[in-house]
Amino acid sequence: MKALKCRECGREYPLAATHVCEFDFGPLEVAYDYDRIKKSLTKAAIQSRPNSMWRYRELLPVAGEPTVGAQVGFTPLVKADRLAKALGIRELWIKNDTVNYPTLSFKDRVVSVALSRSVELGFKTVACASTGNLANSVAANAASAGLKSYVFIPSDLEQGKVINSLVYGANVIGIKGHYDEVNRLCAEIAGKFGWAFVNVNMRPYYAEGSKSMGFEIMEQLGWQIPQHTVVPMASGSLLTKIQKSYQEFTKLGLVSETKYSVHGAQATGCSPISVAQKAGLDFFKPVKPNTIAKSLAIGTPADGFYALRVMKETGGAADDVTDDEIREGIRLLAENEGIFAETAGGVTTAVAKKLIASGKIPANDSAVLCITGNGLKTLDAVVGHVGKTREIKPSLREFEAMLATEEKVGA
Ligand SMILES: *Cc1c(COP(=O)(O)O)cnc(C)c1O
Ligand SMILES: [Zn+2]
Repeated sequence: MKALKCRECGREYPLAATHVCEFDFGPLEVAYDYDRIKKSLTKAAIQSRPNSMWRYRELLPVAGEPTVGAQVGFTPLVKADRLAKALGIRELWIKNDTVNYPTLSFKDRVVSVALSRSVELGFKTVACASTGNLANSVAANAASAGLKSYVFIPSDLEQGKVINSLVYGANVIGIKGHYDEVNRLCAEIAGKFGWAFVNVNMRPYYAEGSKSMGFEIMEQLGWQIPQHTVVPMASGSLLTKIQKSYQEFTKLGLVSETKYSVHGAQATGCSPISVAQKAGLDFFKPVKPNTIAKSLAIGTPADGFYALRVMKETGGAADDVTDDEIREGIRLLAENEGIFAETAGGVTTAVAKKLIASGKIPANDSAVLCITGNGLKTLDAVVGHVGKTREIKPSLREFEAMLATEEKVGA
C-alpha cells in the first residue's frame, strides 16, 4: 500500500487511522503500487501460500505480516446444481462464508485486516458499531490477539448475535436505537477516545478486507471473473469491494478482461439502495429499518452512493424481498444445498431468484451468490417457519403407525 486517497478529489494522506478528506469530507481509500505488486503477486506465488485470505496479502493494507486472523477466509465455493435448477439458471455457485473462521460470517475478513493494521498503528483498544456479525468478529479476534474491545450494537439484536459477542469477554454496549444512531454515537466516541474503531477511523483498511471474497471467487472459478455476482448490501461496502477485487486482478493480469455484472440485494424493510437503483437514481433516501434481516438494517448506508455507481457501471441490478421471501430464501438454500444461512443469505438467495425470473440475470448465464453469514445466529427469524418435529414414544409400533398415517394423507 502506498497512501490513503480521497475518493472524491484524489488528495493523498499518510497511512494513519483516519477516514475522511479534510477538504471535501470524501471517504479515504487505500491506494497501492500495482507495478510493484505485479512482480510478486503471480498465480504461482498465490497457489504456493496457505489457504487463507492472506494469500493475496500484497493487495491487503498491512505493512508487515498479519498478526490477527491468519486463518481467516478461503471458504468453499460450492457448485449449486440443485439450487440452479430451482431458480432456473444454467450454472450457479455459492461462495459460502457461513463457515468463515472464526465467527461464521464474512466480517472475519474485514476484522482480520482492521485489527492487524490497528496493532501496527499501536492501538490497545479496538471497537466497532455493528449490526451483529461485526461485533462477534471484533470480540473474538480481539480476544485471540489480547486486545481490549468495546462493541456497540442496537439493543434489539437476535440473542445469537448478542451471546456471540459476550462470550469472548468483550464490553458489549446495547444502544436503544437503530444502527444509524449507534454509528453516530461511535463517531463521537472515536473522536474523543484513542481507540481503533474498525468501521470508523480504521474504515479504509477494514473495507479492503472484503476484496478477499472476490479474489477467492476468481481463483476458485479457475482464474475467471463470474458473469454475475449477487451481493447483499448493508452499508454497500462489500458490493463496491467485490468490483474493486475484479478490477485489481484484471489490472495485474491474473484474470482476463471480461464483461461482468454486480447485483445488489436488500430486504424490503430496509431498501434505500435497491429502491434508488430501481428508480434509476444516483442517490438514495435514508429510511428507518424494519426487517428480520437485522445484519443488513442500515437506513443510511455509508457506501450507498458508490454501490449505486458500481451497479450502473457493470450493468447490475438491485432488488429487495419481504420477510416471508427471506425465510423462503433461507429454506431454498438449505433444502437444495444443505447450507443454513442467516437472514442476509435468505435475502441474497431470494433476490437472485427474482433477478433470474425477471431476466435481469439471463437464464443461460452463470452466477455466484455471496452467502455471508450463518443461520445458527438468527434462529429467532425462522423458528416456527421450518416445519415441526413429530414426537412418538420409543416404540417401533408407534413409528410404523406414524408412517402409515402419513402415507394415508399422502405426506
Ligand atoms: C455486514 C454484512 C453484510 C454487508 O455489509 P456491507 O456493509 O454492505 O459491506 C452482508 N451480510 C452480512 C451477514 C453482514 O453481516
Ligand atoms: Zn477530497
